[in-house]
Amino acid sequence: MIFDIITIFPDLLDSPLKEGIIRRARVSGQIITNLIDLRVFADGPHAVTDDRPFGGGEGMVMKPEPLAAAVLSRKNIGQRSRVVLLSPQGRCYTQTVAEELAEERHLILVCGRYEGVDERFRAEYVDDEISIGDYILTGGELAAMVVIDSITRLLPGVLGCSDSAANDTFSRNLLQHPQYTRPRDFNGQEVPEELLTGNHEKIEAYRFLSSVKRTLTRRPDLIRNEQFSAEEIALLCKHDL
Ligand code: SAM
Repeated sequence: MIFDIITIFPDLLDSPLKEGIIRRARVSGQIITNLIDLRVFADGPHAVTDDRPFGGGEGMVMKPEPLAAAVLSRKNIGQRSRVVLLSPQGRCYTQTVAEELAEERHLILVCGRYEGVDERFRAEYVDDEISIGDYILTGGELAAMVVIDSITRLLPGVLGCSDSAANDTFSRNLLQHPQYTRPRDFNGQEVPEELLTGNHEKIEAYRFLSSVKRTLTRRPDLIRNEQFSAEEIALLCKHDL
């Protein structure tokens, strides 16, 4: 998967792309990340990428020409690509959207700044608009990093068995069960005894029931859309949550 990130602050994402699973995926060639400095595509000695809004008012707007030139420079690399504008006005980013985007081969992520991008650039060049939540960031870079991070861990072979995505929160409409590691006793709090039995069936039942219980308590809106198997329904009927 190729991620091209168009930004006026390429250094901002340098460090997050050099750590952990993202670094590993880059080193092994499972992802390629290109930080593209928008100023390179701006004209004039000052490489201006923004200007005052027509009609007056607060702030600056990102000019359409440098954005269009930057996108076109990356569209021509011979891969089918999808241009994604990070925007608080976009569709809400969820695990389902991450799974959808993980099917792509080449994402061109456009990071806005100031009051956002000129509408004509959006209309002509943008295929998709993504919001990472109902709040306003100063720029699209952190949102782009959220998108890159969440997609990368879904790509085949990126996660080992030890950090598999299959049982994560949101892989179903459930929150994941609570996790425990050594010591068995922490400040008087014991690890649930089901997890110490070594009995795979009991452990799975415990994890399933605690996952359902946690979801009911914290995110009842999620569980409404979950489809349970006959075995799971039988298990739920046997236990009082
Ligand atoms: N004036 C814009 C508005 O009210 O819709 C907000 C612009 S915001 C200060 C600057 C840039 O940050 C946006 O163009 C976008 O790229 C990014 N941004 C801000 N909040 C975001 C969010 N929730 N999700 C994705 N990107 C966001």
